[in-house]
Amino acid sequence: MSDGFDEELRDLRERSLLRRLRTFDSPQQPSVTQAGRSLVNFSSNDYLGLASDPWLGEAAKAAIDAFGTGSGASRLVCGTLAPHARLEETIAKFKGTEAALTFSSGYATAVGTLTALAREGDVIVLDKLCHASLIDGAKLSGATIRVFPHNHLGKLESHLAWAREHAPDGRVIVATEAVFSMDGDRAPLEEIIAIKKRYNALLLLDEAHSVGVLGRNGRGLAEVLKVRGDVEIQMGTLSKALGVSGGYIAGSRRLVELLVNRARSFIYSTAPAPAMAAAATAALEWLMTDAGEQRRELLWRNLARLGDSLPPALMQGRRIQSAIVPVVLGESARALDAAERLLEAGFVVPAIRYPTVAKDAARLRITVSAKHSAEQIAGLCEALARAVI
Ligand SMILES: *Cc1c(COP(=O)(O)O)cnc(C)c1O
Repeated sequence: MSDGFDEELRDLRERSLLRRLRTFDSPQQPSVTQAGRSLVNFSSNDYLGLASDPWLGEAAKAAIDAFGTGSGASRLVCGTLAPHARLEETIAKFKGTEAALTFSSGYATAVGTLTALAREGDVIVLDKLCHASLIDGAKLSGATIRVFPHNHLGKLESHLAWAREHAPDGRVIVATEAVFSMDGDRAPLEEIIAIKKRYNALLLLDEAHSVGVLGRNGRGLAEVLKVRGDVEIQMGTLSKALGVSGGYIAGSRRLVELLVNRARSFIYSTAPAPAMAAAATAALEWLMTDAGEQRRELLWRNLARLGDSLPPALMQGRRIQSAIVPVVLGESARALDAAERLLEAGFVVPAIRYPTVAKDAARLRITVSAKHSAEQIAGLCEALARAVI
């Protein structure tokens, strides 16, 4: 009997939806090599150039010398080593919260947190463009899910009114992102907070793409708007601007204690390697220095450069609000074709397709780093003008 794998793969290929892994032979930085060819990388979430930073590497090596490579067990058994505790203290300090808890990835953070906090009888209200990890966590929780059109405050409010009527005793959680991962735009956070307060709902704010990018020393969107005290569940990842891996929740001591007891992706998974925790701590400590703030300013200088030299037709009326700049092209085949042409010209820019984005909204997703040179940005803009017609 056929396993059906070939048919499924052929179907994906025919719809321009087949994805393939690409291996790079160099560290994660603006200039990468693939199969001996040098390419300029505009596809990484390493916005501050920390993923290959020697100082973070030194912190990781020192932790390997002191604590070894493995953590040996899950956090609750005996896997909590000093670097984990130090990282969580540093995150709490950075985010201005009582406490923080780390997970092995941002994905595990979202899934573990939503399933820990919500169950049947509760309601989770999600923005339509929320990351897959939030959607999966919401689905797995067993709570009723309501989705509002992207950043649509009226629909958010009517979902909350519905939730309060149908689940008067249930927990109601609004989950959204500070910066949306495929659109690069921001949530209207102050308005969302005003609404969720009226309905006594909790807010989970995923700052995956705003940490390191927005706010004083990269503290994120809630810090920019001075509303950190109104976001009960502050989520983020250590894998993007912070250049390492892992995810976290920052919030009250009670929240963290509840997650330690209930979040299955935390409980039933071996603690992250101590070296990862040490490197992430080093990244956060560095971000809180003047040098960190200067690096973030360099990122914004590069974003301004891109905004000034991208052909207006490709800006599609958008304003640059983060380090993510999408060029929406519509059909998957069109985005794929443009990405291939850019690759021929020496630039790595991914074609983002369904199911990551809507079927008719395939796009090029450009991400900028503080480490890109002015020449690399100018080169990308020229190549884009030629690749996208
Ligand atoms: C990347 C991302 C995650 C997942 O984080 P990982 O550390 O990569 O697992 C969660 N939420 C958003 C919005 C993301 O972009």
